[in-house]
Amino acid sequence: MAPKKRETRKRKTEDPGEDGDTEKEPRSGEVRRRNIRGCSKYIGAHVGIQGGIWKAVDSCVAMGGTSFALFLGSQRSWKRPALDSSAADKFREQCSLHTFDPAHILPHGSYLMNCGSPKEDVFEKSQALLVDELSRCSRLGLTLYNFHPGSSLGTITTEECTEKIATAINHAHQQTPAVVTVLENMSGQGSTVGGKFSELKAIIDKVRDQSRMGVCLDTCHAFAAGYDLTAEGGVKAMLDEFDQQVGLKYLKAIHLNDSKGKVGCNLDRHEDIGKGHIGIPAFRDIVNEPRLDNIPLILETPGRPGFEYAEQIELLYSLFDKKK
Ligand code: ZN
Ligand code: MN
Ligand code: MN
Repeated sequence: MAPKKRETRKRKTEDPGEDGDTEKEPRSGEVRRRNIRGCSKYIGAHVGIQGGIWKAVDSCVAMGGTSFALFLGSQRSWKRPALDSSAADKFREQCSLHTFDPAHILPHGSYLMNCGSPKEDVFEKSQALLVDELSRCSRLGLTLYNFHPGSSLGTITTEECTEKIATAINHAHQQTPAVVTVLENMSGQGSTVGGKFSELKAIIDKVRDQSRMGVCLDTCHAFAAGYDLTAEGGVKAMLDEFDQQVGLKYLKAIHLNDSKGKVGCNLDRHEDIGKGHIGIPAFRDIVNEPRLDNIPLILETPGRPGFEYAEQIELLYSLFDKKK
């Protein structure tokens, strides 16, 4: 069966609220509180940029998403051609046409980058790539940038690794305008840093401009790192612990992934929503958690025929309790 196509809906275009109707349109700089789904949950997916970066916006709209993630260029090369100026303009036009708030768009960093690398050449290249990616974000009108903190490769301590990561972030913050760097929690696989919330906090503590720091919590990574989201109140417990150890003000996004591995397995293996060891009840808790209002909730699941992103977004919205 072919994936069902959503009918294209007209989004209300920006109207600077002359009638003082603050319910419908936020003042500039304020995050949109209600979306086309009529709720405060912004569910979307990581979309491709093949054929032009602006196409990401239409892909998101076509799958019924209200937020999205994207890469900013090829995942294979350290040095990329400069961002094409007309492509960047088209991207901004598409975003404003479909009334996307930049707070609901979460670019994902290159997988080549390791800002915690003990190898001097890799660290230098990673630091340069971070600067390049943040500049691309500002050219695209984006305000958040999500990346994996880094890996010690087992040859330096976690503490030394977090110092390197903070050095790269401080350098990038100096070189680029006000984009917020968003650290992602990791699964604890191998020698990656960021599986424990305390490691994310250790990085943030070493950054000079903490107003430009954020965190994206990946549900698969958290579960694999040992947070049992399937336990009664597991989602709330994880957020409470995050609040105590890091601070909820830093929470800028969620990656919504089920997990192929069991709790505490430390494996970074994403599964489709409801098909892994996390399961539907935990995702129902997430979709109904008020502390996750107005931030992007992004799918990075494999997808399978008949259960692609569009169907998974639909499923997640169906878990939202409208009576609340
Ligand atoms: Zn990631
Ligand atoms: Mn992720
Ligand atoms: Mn992952």
